[in-house]
Amino acid sequence: MGRKTRITSEVDFEKDGKQQGFLRLPHSVHRSAYGWIAIPIIVIKNGSGPNVLLTAANHGDEYEGQITLMKLCQELEPSMVRGRVIMLTATNFPAAIAGRRTSPIDDGNLNRSFPGNPDGPPTAAIAHYVESELLPLSDFLIDLHSGGSSLMYLPSSLMAPAENKQLFDQQMEMLKAFAAPLTYVAVGRDGDRTMLGGASRVGVAAIGTELGGSGGTSPHSLAVAEGGVRRVLKHLGSTPNMEVGEEPPPSRMMEVVSMDYYVYSPDYGVWQPLVELGDDVEAGQPAAMVYCPQTPWRDPVTAHFEVAGKVICKRVPGGVERGDCLFHLATDRQK
Ligand SMILES: [Zn+2]
Repeated sequence: MGRKTRITSEVDFEKDGKQQGFLRLPHSVHRSAYGWIAIPIIVIKNGSGPNVLLTAANHGDEYEGQITLMKLCQELEPSMVRGRVIMLTATNFPAAIAGRRTSPIDDGNLNRSFPGNPDGPPTAAIAHYVESELLPLSDFLIDLHSGGSSLMYLPSSLMAPAENKQLFDQQMEMLKAFAAPLTYVAVGRDGDRTMLGGASRVGVAAIGTELGGSGGTSPHSLAVAEGGVRRVLKHLGSTPNMEVGEEPPPSRMMEVVSMDYYVYSPDYGVWQPLVELGDDVEAGQPAAMVYCPQTPWRDPVTAHFEVAGKVICKRVPGGVERGDCLFHLATDRQK
């Protein structure tokens, strides 16, 4: 973390007003010896107030956040803002343009690349820039995700379990303001390598989302995304007069306690789900059957739920490999 980023910014983060431009990530390749990757960035600053960072397309095949921030960056003017709002509408830009979870340039998964490396491949350099340059300018972060191409979620917002009580409370208030139909506190898959992990290292109150998925969007998931971001900005005092529409019902507070909440494919083949998103299941209940196309007369292999809970996430593609996530559960949050 001691080394400095090679990325330069066309915008001045300390200047009042609305600026839009690009982060320039040096990328010397066959077709462009002295070229750079242009990552769009928008900064809106008006005096003192909360410093908010909004990020979308951390994974490039997740679209609610991209659309929400593209609309927001066109709408917001400095007179509407207190403090500073920084927006990255396509954080892992090469992945976003390709519509892929990972970058086609280096196969990098930005949300497994933190704290990053200033001298590494583009994805690692972006992670390093966010953690070493943007998060230190921020008090609050919303990192907008959905299930991507391979997963579908009930629209949710989430946080990692923060050890710092003040951060935990701030994050919980942000989640309540976001008011997605579901909210959960999740133990991580590689939590320290995510943007939320970076935020926690820097001391930034940060929430994430899982807004839908399947590599697309819906009117419902977009409404959850847009309404949630607007309500959090207003709650933080960032946009005090923002129109937020009708107050949604309070979110159902849930948690993902252990890796037992995840069901993985036990074999290669095609899979038959036995439950649907939103179902409540029992421990030991069959979750899915995996059939073998190469040997169709072979008995299917059954995957089971290890704990009871609500199905909040389901795999999308019909083909599976051993180790692919088929479902994950959440349970009501115990105080
Ligand atoms: Zn994601």
